[in-house]
Amino acid sequence: MSEQQRQVSDESVIKLIGMHKWYGDFHVLKDINLEVKRGERIVICGPSGSGKSTMIRCINRLEEHQQGQIIIEDTELTNDVKNIEEVRREVGMCFQHFNLFPHLSILDNLTLAPIWVRKMPKKEAEELAMHYLERVKIPEQADKYPGQLSGGQQQRVAIARSLCMKPNIMLFDEPTSALDPEMIAEVLDVMVTLAEEGMTMLCVTHEMGFARKVADRVIFMDGGEIIEQNEPEAFFNNPQNERTQLFLSQIL
Ligand code: ADP
Ligand code: MG
Repeated sequence: MSEQQRQVSDESVIKLIGMHKWYGDFHVLKDINLEVKRGERIVICGPSGSGKSTMIRCINRLEEHQQGQIIIEDTELTNDVKNIEEVRREVGMCFQHFNLFPHLSILDNLTLAPIWVRKMPKKEAEELAMHYLERVKIPEQADKYPGQLSGGQQQRVAIARSLCMKPNIMLFDEPTSALDPEMIAEVLDVMVTLAEEGMTMLCVTHEMGFARKVADRVIFMDGGEIIEQNEPEAFFNNPQNERTQLFLSQIL
């Protein structure tokens, strides 16, 4: 743990300040305050419907917030399209459902954004794609199509695809919750490696073994609010809030 903690710098790369969001009349996120330092690994947990996905999606502007501030690196998220594009270049995201393009080969799934968004020459993009497929340990699948791969393999492709854009920050939203149990470990292994290499990560997950192993901080959300946060040891062994205690008693 001490090795990991040393990688966390003082520089804050994500700041949510008094952030609120509504879906119509429904107040889904209430006064969210969160500061993430470069290299920090954060696990977010909480009951279904507590606003975890919405918060993650606000951070790369898949959803808009209505009040307060979201600042990524030095860019504040506003309606300015230039800012949104800038932030999306910095922030990679992996979802529960892998969202690969079914009609494209694995290699083409990986090279698409580097070629079209980063304007990278095709050959260079393919080399980059193979590099990351090796990193997630499935280079031999490059010419197959998503439907020919297992769920765990598809999720690793999705992670590799994000990494091809060289993000400084990775957001994960329940990346293992759609997977069969025997495939969860292979995806978590990739995430652990990323964490150990110092990637700034926000992971919504209920994989508490992962949280204990890599998180610098665990955040518990309920009813659209951050209820409690702490280092994993203290969070799991000595939760303070009743709602955290109840949640942990249900999942552990
Ligand atoms: P979690 O990821 O913690 O399960 P979500 O962020 O997905 O929670 O959802 C939080 C709440 O917002 C839920 O009550 C959900 O029904 C509601 N919600 C999510 N997306 C929308 C939407 N697009 N429109 C209206 N309500 C939504
Ligand atoms: Mg969710």
